[in-house]
Amino acid sequence: MRKRWISLLVTGLFVGGALVPATPALAAPTFKVPFPCGQSWSGQTRSDHSPAYAVDFNRTDDNGDPVVASAPGTVDRVTDLGGTSYGKYVRINHGGGYSTYYAHLNGFNVSVGQTVGYGKVLGWVGSTGGSTGPHLHYEQRLNGADIQVRFNGTLGLYWGTRSYASDNGCSSGSGNGTVDTSGTPLTVRSGPGTGYASVGTVADGTRVTIACQTSGTTVTGTYGTSSIWDRIGSGRYIADAYVYTGSDGYIPGVPRC
Ligand SMILES: [Zn+2]
Repeated sequence: MRKRWISLLVTGLFVGGALVPATPALAAPTFKVPFPCGQSWSGQTRSDHSPAYAVDFNRTDDNGDPVVASAPGTVDRVTDLGGTSYGKYVRINHGGGYSTYYAHLNGFNVSVGQTVGYGKVLGWVGSTGGSTGPHLHYEQRLNGADIQVRFNGTLGLYWGTRSYASDNGCSSGSGNGTVDTSGTPLTVRSGPGTGYASVGTVADGTRVTIACQTSGTTVTGTYGTSSIWDRIGSGRYIADAYVYTGSDGYIPGVPRC
């Protein structure tokens, strides 16, 4: 189903009583996509949006999907505006003048004053307020003015629609996988490619911890063809094409080597 979009009423533009601090802006928090680790969402920006730099997020059958905090902070607004503007929305104060907004929710999972971290569920995607179909209306603001959104420091697309993959609240900086070779031991290399020296093997079915991932020789394995290599120890790499990680491509939240 094609989702329909509607601009917020002008009342949604006002932060209502927020004071602009006289101190210089601190470094921006590292904002992350406001959905759980591993999910991909379509984010749309458009110049006639209100406010202009807001993002409307959708994915298939998104009504009721959890919305999570973009960055650590304190919930300073949990408000229901009824059938207008944001409808049910949450605002988080991240300090340094930065705040984020999550609007048109169908319910709340936090209360004012609550401290939240990455991945904390704030509420659920809905279609409350001035919305004609389920979506998350999301904003980043600095000193009350909307700013172009950044996720992990990377600017969002202005203007247009693109996919955003979430690494929000991923359990740690490392990932896990299970070697699946249908029986044969998997060769461990000293670097990310088949041209590197063999430094041992791991047995089929071995659970491995992946410290980081990088690109190397393209390998066709149990899970298709991939140039991704997984570092499973110091100077120890295996081809990701033979590792079940639950992710197609790079694992969200796991760093590049
Ligand atoms: Zn919107």
